[in-house]
Amino acid sequence: MTDPNCLFCRIASREIPSSIVYEDADVVAFKDIAPKMPVHIVLVPRTHLAGLDGLTPELAPLVGKVALAAQQLARDLGIARSGYRLLSNCGPDAGQTVAHLHFHLLGGGPMGAMA
Ligand code: AMP
Ligand code: ZN
Repeated sequence: MTDPNCLFCRIASREIPSSIVYEDADVVAFKDIAPKMPVHIVLVPRTHLAGLDGLTPELAPLVGKVALAAQQLARDLGIARSGYRLLSNCGPDAGQTVAHLHFHLLGGGPMGAMA
């Protein structure tokens, strides 16, 4: 369920401090330590999964829960109308640096086209 050596598992359990902006039984969201946009939140399921490639049908509802948490955060943070992006990097070519499934909620200004 969790990996004691995983940074995001340790943030989710509050073993490592971070700026948590939302949490429930399944999802934790915190401010990215190196924000790329005025709003840059990282959302993770509490369950440890290395990334999207590790998702199974059994665990798929977690992604819906993350998306709903992101939607609520976007409203709360005032970017629902201006627009936002929710993305997950999977693997080296995508630039994934932390091997725990996570989604970036980005907003607060215009973003360029992807890739
Ligand atoms: P990715 O590059 O898609 O794997 O995203 C990992 C993200 O985690 C990066 O945007 C990092 O800035 C962010 N990050 C790394 N360590 C921390 C931390 N301790 N607290 C908050 N965000 C972090
Ligand atoms: Zn983890």
